[in-house]
Amino acid sequence: MPIKISLRMGGLRESATLELNARAKQLAKDGKNIYNLTAGELASDTPLDIQEHVTKVLDQNKYTPVAGLPELRQLIADHYQAMSGQTWIKASNVVVTAGAKPAEYAVLMALIDPGDEIIVISPYWGSYKNMIELAGGKVKEVPANADFQLDIDAISKAINSRTKGIIVNSPNNPTGATYPKDDLLKLKQVLDSTNLIFITDEIYCTLIYGKDYCLPSSLNFKNTIIINGFSKSQALTGWRIGYLIAPDEVAAAATNILSHINGNAPLPSQHAGITAMQNDDRPPGTTLELLQKQRDIVINKLQKAPDIKLIAPNGAFYFFLDISKVTSDSAKWCADLLDKYGVALVPGEAFAAPGYVRLTFVCEQNTLVEALDRIVEFTNRKDR
Ligand code: PLP
Repeated sequence: MPIKISLRMGGLRESATLELNARAKQLAKDGKNIYNLTAGELASDTPLDIQEHVTKVLDQNKYTPVAGLPELRQLIADHYQAMSGQTWIKASNVVVTAGAKPAEYAVLMALIDPGDEIIVISPYWGSYKNMIELAGGKVKEVPANADFQLDIDAISKAINSRTKGIIVNSPNNPTGATYPKDDLLKLKQVLDSTNLIFITDEIYCTLIYGKDYCLPSSLNFKNTIIINGFSKSQALTGWRIGYLIAPDEVAAAATNILSHINGNAPLPSQHAGITAMQNDDRPPGTTLELLQKQRDIVINKLQKAPDIKLIAPNGAFYFFLDISKVTSDSAKWCADLLDKYGVALVPGEAFAAPGYVRLTFVCEQNTLVEALDRIVEFTNRKDR
Protein backbone atom coordinates (compact mmCIF):
# COMPACT_ATOMS: atom_id res chain seq x y z
CA MET A 1 0.00 0.00 0.00
CA PRO A 2 1.49 3.39 -0.88
CA ILE A 3 1.66 5.88 1.98
CA LYS A 4 -1.32 8.25 2.00
CA ILE A 5 -0.32 11.80 1.16
CA SER A 6 -2.05 14.63 3.03
CA LEU A 7 -5.23 16.21 1.69
CA ARG A 8 -3.46 19.56 1.84
CA MET A 9 -1.30 18.44 -1.07
CA GLY A 10 -4.48 18.15 -3.17
CA GLY A 11 -3.51 18.09 -6.83
CA LEU A 12 -0.13 19.75 -6.20
CA ARG A 13 2.51 18.71 -8.71
CA GLU A 14 6.09 19.66 -9.39
CA SER A 15 6.51 23.06 -11.05
CA ALA A 16 5.81 22.45 -14.78
CA THR A 17 8.74 24.64 -15.79
CA LEU A 18 11.23 22.79 -13.60
CA GLU A 19 9.79 19.46 -14.75
CA LEU A 20 10.12 20.35 -18.44
CA ASN A 21 13.56 21.82 -17.97
CA ALA A 22 14.62 18.57 -16.31
CA ARG A 23 13.08 16.49 -19.13
CA ALA A 24 14.88 18.52 -21.80
CA LYS A 25 18.17 18.15 -19.89
CA GLN A 26 17.64 14.38 -19.59
CA LEU A 27 16.96 14.05 -23.36
CA ALA A 28 20.17 16.00 -24.04
CA LYS A 29 22.04 13.68 -21.66
CA ASP A 30 20.65 10.71 -23.59
CA GLY A 31 22.44 12.06 -26.65
CA LYS A 32 19.54 13.91 -28.37
CA ASN A 33 20.13 17.30 -29.95
CA ILE A 34 18.01 19.50 -27.68
CA TYR A 35 17.33 23.23 -27.89
CA ASN A 36 16.13 24.07 -24.42
CA LEU A 37 14.21 27.34 -24.24
CA THR A 38 12.37 26.53 -21.01
CA ALA A 39 14.78 27.86 -18.40
CA GLY A 40 13.89 30.64 -16.00
CA GLU A 41 17.50 31.66 -15.49
CA LEU A 42 20.32 33.54 -17.17
CA ALA A 43 22.86 31.44 -19.06
CA SER A 44 25.97 33.14 -17.61
CA ASP A 45 28.17 31.84 -14.75
CA THR A 46 28.43 33.30 -11.25
CA PRO A 47 29.80 36.85 -11.59
CA LEU A 48 33.56 36.89 -10.83
CA ASP A 49 33.42 39.53 -8.11
CA ILE A 50 30.88 37.39 -6.26
CA GLN A 51 33.10 34.32 -6.63
CA GLU A 52 36.10 36.25 -5.33
CA HIS A 53 34.31 37.68 -2.31
CA VAL A 54 32.65 34.41 -1.31
CA THR A 55 35.93 32.48 -1.57
CA LYS A 56 37.29 34.74 1.17
CA VAL A 57 34.55 33.85 3.65
CA LEU A 58 34.37 30.10 3.18
CA ASP A 59 35.69 29.58 6.71
CA GLN A 60 32.45 31.04 8.09
CA ASN A 61 30.03 28.27 8.98
CA LYS A 62 27.61 29.27 11.73
CA TYR A 63 23.90 30.09 11.71
CA THR A 64 23.15 33.71 10.99
CA PRO A 65 20.09 35.53 12.36
CA VAL A 66 17.03 34.04 10.60
CA ALA A 67 16.26 37.33 8.86
CA GLY A 68 19.82 37.54 7.51
CA LEU A 69 23.17 39.19 8.16
CA PRO A 70 22.63 42.74 9.50
CA GLU A 71 25.03 44.13 6.87
CA LEU A 72 23.05 42.58 4.01
CA ARG A 73 19.68 43.69 5.40
CA GLN A 74 21.02 47.24 5.70
CA LEU A 75 22.41 47.20 2.15
CA ILE A 76 19.09 45.92 0.78
CA ALA A 77 17.15 48.56 2.72
CA ASP A 78 19.45 51.36 1.47
CA HIS A 79 19.28 50.07 -2.11
CA TYR A 80 15.49 49.82 -2.10
CA GLN A 81 15.03 53.20 -0.44
CA ALA A 82 17.17 54.78 -3.14
CA MET A 83 15.50 52.87 -5.98
CA SER A 84 11.88 53.25 -4.86
CA GLY A 85 12.02 56.46 -2.81
CA GLN A 86 10.18 54.67 0.01
CA THR A 87 11.55 56.03 3.28
CA TRP A 88 9.60 53.51 5.41
CA ILE A 89 12.02 50.78 4.32
CA LYS A 90 14.50 50.07 7.13
CA ALA A 91 16.83 47.11 7.69
CA SER A 92 14.24 45.72 10.14
CA ASN A 93 11.71 45.46 7.29
CA VAL A 94 14.01 43.22 5.26
CA VAL A 95 13.99 39.43 5.62
CA VAL A 96 16.62 37.55 3.63
CA THR A 97 15.47 34.15 2.34
CA ALA A 98 16.75 31.13 0.42
CA GLY A 99 15.47 32.45 -2.92
CA ALA A 100 12.41 34.57 -3.66
CA LYS A 101 10.12 31.55 -3.46
CA PRO A 102 10.36 31.12 0.34
CA ALA A 103 9.97 34.91 0.69
CA GLU A 104 6.71 34.69 -1.20
CA TYR A 105 5.51 31.63 0.69
CA ALA A 106 6.37 33.05 4.12
CA VAL A 107 4.44 36.24 3.29
CA LEU A 108 1.39 34.30 2.13
CA MET A 109 1.53 32.05 5.23
CA ALA A 110 1.73 35.16 7.39
CA LEU A 111 -1.30 36.80 5.74
CA ILE A 112 -3.83 34.20 4.69
CA ASP A 113 -6.63 32.80 6.82
CA PRO A 114 -8.67 29.86 5.48
CA GLY A 115 -10.81 30.98 2.54
CA ASP A 116 -9.09 34.34 2.04
CA GLU A 117 -8.75 35.29 -1.60
CA ILE A 118 -5.67 36.66 -3.33
CA ILE A 119 -6.11 38.26 -6.75
CA VAL A 120 -3.60 37.16 -9.37
CA ILE A 121 -3.49 38.42 -12.93
CA SER A 122 -3.53 35.63 -15.52
CA PRO A 123 -1.38 34.52 -17.23
CA TYR A 124 0.66 34.11 -14.04
CA TRP A 125 3.70 32.32 -12.67
CA GLY A 126 2.30 28.93 -11.57
CA SER A 127 3.84 28.89 -8.09
CA TYR A 128 1.55 31.73 -6.93
CA LYS A 129 -1.48 29.47 -7.13
CA ASN A 130 0.19 26.55 -5.40
CA MET A 131 1.57 28.71 -2.60
CA ILE A 132 -1.73 30.51 -2.01
CA GLU A 133 -3.59 27.19 -1.83
CA LEU A 134 -0.97 25.59 0.45
CA ALA A 135 -1.42 28.55 2.77
CA GLY A 136 -5.18 27.81 2.88
CA GLY A 137 -6.26 30.61 0.56
CA LYS A 138 -8.04 30.80 -2.77
CA VAL A 139 -6.81 32.25 -6.02
CA LYS A 140 -9.05 34.84 -7.63
CA GLU A 141 -7.91 34.89 -11.20
CA VAL A 142 -8.36 38.12 -13.13
CA PRO A 143 -7.34 37.91 -16.79
CA ALA A 144 -5.00 40.56 -18.17
CA ASN A 145 -6.28 42.35 -21.25
CA ALA A 146 -5.24 41.32 -24.78
CA ASP A 147 -1.94 43.23 -24.46
CA PHE A 148 -1.10 41.44 -21.18
CA GLN A 149 -1.89 44.66 -19.30
CA LEU A 150 -3.88 45.24 -16.10
CA ASP A 151 -7.65 45.37 -16.49
CA ILE A 152 -8.44 47.71 -13.62
CA ASP A 153 -12.24 47.39 -13.95
CA ALA A 154 -12.03 43.62 -13.80
CA ILE A 155 -9.76 43.84 -10.75
CA SER A 156 -12.22 46.19 -8.99
CA LYS A 157 -15.08 43.83 -9.72
CA ALA A 158 -13.12 40.85 -8.37
CA ILE A 159 -12.77 42.41 -4.91
CA ASN A 160 -15.16 41.10 -2.27
CA SER A 161 -15.28 40.68 1.51
CA ARG A 162 -12.89 37.70 1.38
CA THR A 163 -10.21 39.49 -0.67
CA LYS A 164 -6.96 39.91 1.23
CA GLY A 165 -4.72 41.34 -1.45
CA ILE A 166 -3.27 41.16 -4.92
CA ILE A 167 0.01 39.94 -6.39
CA VAL A 168 1.45 42.07 -9.17
CA ASN A 169 4.54 41.00 -11.10
CA SER A 170 6.14 43.62 -13.37
CA PRO A 171 8.19 42.76 -15.43
CA ASN A 172 6.04 39.72 -15.71
CA ASN A 173 6.73 36.04 -15.94
CA PRO A 174 5.56 34.67 -18.40
CA THR A 175 4.59 37.65 -20.59
CA GLY A 176 7.53 40.04 -20.19
CA ALA A 177 4.97 42.86 -19.86
CA THR A 178 5.59 45.84 -17.60
CA TYR A 179 2.73 47.97 -16.28
CA PRO A 180 2.70 51.69 -17.02
CA LYS A 181 2.61 54.18 -14.16
CA ASP A 182 -0.91 55.40 -15.06
CA ASP A 183 -2.40 51.93 -14.72
CA LEU A 184 -0.55 51.26 -11.49
CA LEU A 185 -1.86 54.55 -10.09
CA LYS A 186 -5.40 53.54 -11.01
CA LEU A 187 -4.81 50.24 -9.21
CA LYS A 188 -3.48 52.15 -6.20
CA GLN A 189 -6.67 54.19 -6.08
CA VAL A 190 -8.72 51.00 -5.99
CA LEU A 191 -6.58 49.24 -3.37
CA ASP A 192 -5.93 52.20 -1.11
CA SER A 193 -9.65 52.88 -0.73
CA THR A 194 -9.72 49.49 1.03
CA ASN A 195 -7.23 47.80 3.33
CA LEU A 196 -6.00 45.37 0.68
CA ILE A 197 -2.39 44.27 0.53
CA PHE A 198 -0.27 44.99 -2.51
CA ILE A 199 2.33 42.26 -3.01
CA THR A 200 4.76 43.36 -5.69
CA ASP A 201 7.09 40.70 -7.08
CA GLU A 202 9.95 42.75 -8.57
CA ILE A 203 12.38 39.92 -9.23
CA TYR A 204 12.88 40.96 -12.87
CA CYS A 205 13.14 44.72 -12.22
CA THR A 206 16.79 44.97 -13.31
CA LEU A 207 16.07 43.39 -16.72
CA ILE A 208 14.31 46.15 -18.64
CA TYR A 209 14.36 46.89 -22.40
CA GLY A 210 12.07 49.90 -22.73
CA LYS A 211 12.66 53.31 -21.13
CA ASP A 212 9.38 53.75 -19.31
CA TYR A 213 9.59 51.17 -16.57
CA CYS A 214 7.74 52.10 -13.38
CA LEU A 215 8.86 50.20 -10.28
CA PRO A 216 5.51 49.33 -8.65
CA SER A 217 6.87 49.69 -5.10
CA SER A 218 7.83 53.30 -5.87
CA LEU A 219 4.16 54.33 -5.90
CA ASN A 220 3.65 54.05 -2.16
CA PHE A 221 0.61 51.76 -2.09
CA LYS A 222 -0.82 51.77 1.43
CA ASN A 223 0.08 48.16 2.34
CA THR A 224 3.11 47.30 0.24
CA ILE A 225 5.03 44.03 0.47
CA ILE A 226 8.00 43.61 -1.87
CA ILE A 227 9.47 40.33 -3.12
CA ASN A 228 12.85 40.34 -4.82
CA GLY A 229 16.16 38.49 -4.95
CA PHE A 230 19.40 37.86 -6.77
CA SER A 231 18.37 34.85 -8.86
CA LYS A 232 17.56 36.77 -12.02
CA SER A 233 19.66 39.94 -11.62
CA GLN A 234 22.92 38.12 -10.81
CA ALA A 235 22.42 34.70 -12.44
CA LEU A 236 22.36 33.13 -8.96
CA THR A 237 19.35 30.83 -9.28
CA GLY A 238 21.20 27.86 -7.80
CA TRP A 239 22.57 29.82 -4.84
CA ARG A 240 19.08 30.36 -3.42
CA ILE A 241 19.10 33.92 -2.21
CA GLY A 242 16.18 36.35 -2.17
CA TYR A 243 14.35 38.66 0.21
CA LEU A 244 11.10 40.26 1.22
CA ILE A 245 10.48 43.79 2.45
CA ALA A 246 7.36 44.27 4.53
CA PRO A 247 5.82 46.33 7.33
CA ASP A 248 7.17 45.34 10.78
CA GLU A 249 4.39 42.97 11.79
CA VAL A 250 4.54 41.01 8.50
CA ALA A 251 8.35 40.89 8.51
CA ALA A 252 8.24 39.53 12.08
CA ALA A 253 5.62 36.89 11.25
CA ALA A 254 7.49 35.79 8.12
CA THR A 255 10.72 35.53 10.14
CA ASN A 256 8.98 33.37 12.73
CA ILE A 257 7.70 31.01 10.03
CA LEU A 258 11.14 30.78 8.40
CA SER A 259 12.76 30.14 11.79
CA HIS A 260 10.89 26.82 11.95
CA ILE A 261 10.98 25.63 8.37
CA ASN A 262 14.25 26.90 6.94
CA GLY A 263 16.29 29.06 9.29
CA ASN A 264 18.62 31.53 7.64
CA ALA A 265 19.42 31.65 3.93
CA PRO A 266 22.75 29.95 3.08
CA LEU A 267 25.62 31.98 4.48
CA PRO A 268 27.82 32.03 1.32
CA SER A 269 24.77 33.14 -0.67
CA GLN A 270 24.17 36.01 1.75
CA HIS A 271 27.75 37.10 1.10
CA ALA A 272 27.00 36.93 -2.62
CA GLY A 273 24.08 39.26 -1.94
CA ILE A 274 26.40 41.69 -0.14
CA THR A 275 28.67 41.89 -3.20
CA ALA A 276 25.68 42.28 -5.52
CA MET A 277 24.27 45.13 -3.44
CA GLN A 278 27.66 46.87 -3.33
CA ASN A 279 27.29 46.97 -7.14
CA ASP A 280 23.71 48.25 -6.87
CA ASP A 281 22.44 44.85 -8.04
CA ARG A 282 23.36 45.67 -11.65
CA PRO A 283 23.24 42.60 -13.92
CA PRO A 284 26.79 41.46 -14.67
CA GLY A 285 28.82 42.62 -17.69
CA THR A 286 26.98 42.75 -20.99
CA THR A 287 23.93 40.77 -19.83
CA LEU A 288 21.43 43.45 -20.81
CA GLU A 289 22.92 44.21 -24.23
CA LEU A 290 23.00 40.49 -25.03
CA LEU A 291 19.42 39.96 -23.94
CA GLN A 292 18.26 42.97 -25.93
CA LYS A 293 19.98 41.58 -29.03
CA GLN A 294 18.48 38.13 -28.57
CA ARG A 295 15.05 39.62 -27.99
CA ASP A 296 15.31 41.31 -31.38
CA ILE A 297 16.46 38.07 -33.01
CA VAL A 298 13.29 36.35 -31.78
CA ILE A 299 11.10 39.15 -33.14
CA ASN A 300 12.81 39.01 -36.56
CA LYS A 301 12.86 35.25 -36.90
CA LEU A 302 9.27 34.67 -35.85
CA GLN A 303 8.02 37.03 -38.54
CA LYS A 304 8.48 33.99 -40.77
CA ALA A 305 5.76 32.16 -38.84
CA PRO A 306 2.86 34.59 -39.26
CA ASP A 307 0.45 32.30 -37.41
CA ILE A 308 2.35 32.93 -34.21
CA LYS A 309 1.33 36.21 -32.56
CA LEU A 310 3.77 37.93 -30.26
CA ILE A 311 4.02 41.01 -28.10
CA ALA A 312 7.61 42.17 -27.60
CA PRO A 313 8.52 41.93 -23.91
CA ASN A 314 9.51 45.11 -22.06
CA GLY A 315 11.43 43.22 -19.41
CA ALA A 316 12.51 39.79 -18.05
CA PHE A 317 13.65 37.24 -20.66
CA TYR A 318 10.50 35.61 -21.94
CA PHE A 319 8.19 35.78 -24.94
CA PHE A 320 4.68 34.53 -24.39
CA LEU A 321 3.65 33.42 -27.86
CA ASP A 322 0.02 33.17 -28.92
CA ILE A 323 -0.25 29.93 -30.91
CA SER A 324 -4.04 29.67 -30.79
CA LYS A 325 -4.19 30.03 -34.59
CA VAL A 326 -1.95 26.99 -34.96
CA THR A 327 -3.40 24.61 -32.38
CA SER A 328 -6.00 24.33 -29.66
CA ASP A 329 -3.73 22.10 -27.57
CA SER A 330 -0.52 23.93 -26.62
CA ALA A 331 0.65 21.10 -24.33
CA LYS A 332 0.55 18.60 -27.20
CA TRP A 333 2.10 21.13 -29.58
CA CYS A 334 5.04 21.52 -27.15
CA ALA A 335 5.39 17.75 -26.75
CA ASP A 336 5.45 17.31 -30.57
CA LEU A 337 7.91 20.16 -31.00
CA LEU A 338 10.24 18.53 -28.48
CA ASP A 339 9.89 15.02 -29.95
CA LYS A 340 10.14 15.96 -33.63
CA TYR A 341 12.35 19.06 -33.59
CA GLY A 342 14.17 18.84 -30.26
CA VAL A 343 12.98 22.30 -29.14
CA ALA A 344 11.65 22.64 -25.59
CA LEU A 345 9.17 25.42 -24.74
CA VAL A 346 6.78 25.64 -21.78
CA PRO A 347 3.07 25.25 -22.63
CA GLY A 348 0.77 28.06 -21.53
CA GLU A 349 -1.17 25.63 -19.32
CA ALA A 350 1.63 26.09 -16.76
CA PHE A 351 0.61 29.76 -16.52
CA ALA A 352 -3.18 29.32 -16.66
CA ALA A 353 -3.15 30.32 -20.34
CA PRO A 354 -3.70 27.46 -22.80
CA GLY A 355 -3.17 28.52 -26.41
CA TYR A 356 0.18 30.11 -25.54
CA VAL A 357 3.77 28.93 -25.09
CA ARG A 358 6.63 30.54 -23.18
CA LEU A 359 9.98 30.93 -24.87
CA THR A 360 13.08 31.94 -22.88
CA PHE A 361 15.68 33.80 -24.94
CA VAL A 362 18.73 33.55 -22.69
CA CYS A 363 20.58 30.67 -24.35
CA GLU A 364 23.67 30.97 -26.52
CA GLN A 365 22.90 32.87 -29.75
CA ASN A 366 23.55 30.01 -32.22
CA THR A 367 21.31 27.74 -30.21
CA LEU A 368 18.58 30.36 -30.16
CA VAL A 369 18.77 30.93 -33.94
CA GLU A 370 18.66 27.20 -34.71
CA ALA A 371 15.77 26.69 -32.28
CA LEU A 372 13.81 29.54 -33.87
CA ASP A 373 14.36 28.12 -37.36
CA ARG A 374 12.99 24.83 -36.13
CA ILE A 375 9.97 26.47 -34.49
CA VAL A 376 9.22 28.30 -37.76
CA GLU A 377 9.52 25.09 -39.78
CA PHE A 378 7.30 23.14 -37.38
CA THR A 379 4.67 25.91 -37.26
CA ASN A 380 4.52 26.31 -41.03
CA ARG A 381 4.25 22.57 -41.75
CA LYS A 382 0.89 21.77 -43.26
CA ASP A 383 0.99 18.10 -42.17
CA ARG A 384 1.71 18.87 -38.54
N1 PLP B 1 8.91 35.25 -8.88
C1 PLP B 1 8.84 35.05 -10.20
C2 PLP B 1 7.88 35.86 -11.00
C3 PLP B 1 9.65 34.09 -10.82
O1 PLP B 1 9.57 33.92 -12.15
C4 PLP B 1 10.51 33.32 -10.02
C5 PLP B 1 11.35 32.28 -10.60
O2 PLP B 1 11.20 31.85 -11.72
C6 PLP B 1 10.56 33.57 -8.65
C7 PLP B 1 9.75 34.55 -8.11
C8 PLP B 1 11.43 32.76 -7.73
O3 PLP B 1 12.74 33.09 -7.76
P1 PLP B 1 13.81 32.28 -6.90
O4 PLP B 1 14.49 31.35 -7.85
O5 PLP B 1 14.73 33.33 -6.35
O6 PLP B 1 13.10 31.54 -5.83
